[in-house]
Parts: sequence; C-alpha cells; structure tokens
Amino acid sequence: MKKDITRNFTSERSEAYIALGANLGRREETLREALRLLNEHTEIEVLRASDVYETDPVGYADQPAFLNMAAAVATSLKPQALLGVLQEIENRLGRVRDIRFGPRTADLDLLWMDGLAISTEELTLPHPRMHERFFVLVPLDDIVPQSEPSGLRALIDDSLIELGAASGIRAFSGPLFP
Ligand code: ADP
Ligand code: MG
Repeated sequence: MKKDITRNFTSERSEAYIALGANLGRREETLREALRLLNEHTEIEVLRASDVYETDPVGYADQPAFLNMAAAVATSLKPQALLGVLQEIENRLGRVRDIRFGPRTADLDLLWMDGLAISTEELTLPHPRMHERFFVLVPLDDIVPQSEPSGLRALIDDSLIELGAASGIRAFSGPLFP
C-alpha cells in the first residue's frame, strides 16, 4: 500500500481484525475517514478492507440502517493500546454514546488479534458477540484468508453454518480502501 508515513513498528507485528459500523450522518464518509485515520497511525497499517454492507439494526431496532465493514490491520500496538486508538477514532468522528447498541456515528470494535484470549473490564478478545452477528461475519468472510494462522477462518465458517441463511444484510459497495 502506497503512503508517505514513516512507520514505527518497534516490537513484533500482530495481525488484527476490526469491525467498523456507522448509522448516523454521512455513513460512507465516516467509514472512509475511520480507515484513513487508522492507516495514518504510525503503528497501524491497513492491509485489507472488506466490501461495505447495509444492515438492519440488531438489538435496538428503532434506528437507521447501518453500514458495516471489516478491516485487517498490521500493528505493533498491544491489544489495549489498539482499542484505545479505536476509541479515539470513534470520538474524533463524533460518536454519540447514549444507548448501548443504539445509533452511533462510528463504532469500531476489535474482533480478533492473533487468536489472543483476553477478558478484562475494558477488553474481551475474541469479541464476545462476533460469532452471532451477520454484520460482522459476512464482511470478515471477505478478508480472512484460508491460510489465516490463528483459527479465525474456522470460527467464521462454523459460525456462518450455525447461523444459516443470512438475513438483514445487503451488499452496498465495494471496499472504501485504499
Ligand atoms: P458495542 O460495540 O457492543 O455496541 P460499545 O461500542 O458501546 O458497544 O462498547 C462498550 C464497551 O465494550 C467499551 O467501553 C469497551 O471497553 C468494551 N469492549 C470490550 N471488548 C471489546 C472489544 N473487543 N472491542 C471493542 N470494545 C470492547
Ligand atoms: Mg463498540
């Protein structure tokens, strides 16, 4: 990927998968900007971006449809630090944090990081609800290679079989990145 930023990968690189969603304002612009901000970070490189999908809201139904996508990144950040960056980007893009599962300008979730299992107050990995959400699994399916070394491919395949026919999700556009 061409870019003019000097990278500062001090420690070992991890591969992480991130879910991005937006359902208020200019949704596509928000996702594009989130990807740009991620890739601009000196310790994060966006490797791949999925297609964009439009999805019906899950949980709190009385809100506009979401645009959802997933991205694979390489990073030298530790998981907590990467989550911190995701939250900074949400804030910068003007997320309104009122209703859990409710409308938001931007929602960035850390799904998977080298198969690490973490369970703390701020961070659970793998993301605890990823296996039950079409709006996470369908985009991920676009960008996780068969050769993914830490077991994510099998998790996606098994979860999609378990869930059966996809519903509430429609193709919206091709990748917004690069
Ligand atoms: P959701 O994305 O499930 O709708 P929020 O974005 O409001 O909910 O996140 C609520 C909290 O979830 C955050 O304060 C964050 O600390 C916590 N959290 C735990 N694990 C993760 C994860 N893997 N990715 C993102 N947030 C997480
Ligand atoms: Mg979130």
